[in-house]
Amino acid sequence: MKSILIAAFMLFTSSVAFAQNTPTQTVKKKPSLVYICPSCGYVYNKAGKCTDGATLVQEGMYYCKMCDGQVAKKPGKCSKCNMDLVKMEKPKDKAKS
Ligand SMILES: [Zn+2]
Ligand SMILES: [Zn+2]
Repeated sequence: MKSILIAAFMLFTSSVAFAQNTPTQTVKKKPSLVYICPSCGYVYNKAGKCTDGATLVQEGMYYCKMCDGQVAKKPGKCSKCNMDLVKMEKPKDKAKS
């Protein structure tokens, strides 16, 4: 008798879980966007500002080392100081060789 109850309970919970599992089935691995602080090198996973006030630069974008917030998709010169823009790259882990 007890086993029937357990079976019924299992059936109930599994059907509930199935009903809730609606649109988010395609679990694609998005390329996680990485934003890096040009000032301190801290890595964030969303755009914004670092705690030190520097505008975060997305990985792969080009930025001016001198001017905060000067970012371009392609290499070039800063519109403010005419310095070459530098590609933002994720700081490498030193632990792995
Ligand atoms: Zn910072
Ligand atoms: Zn500049």
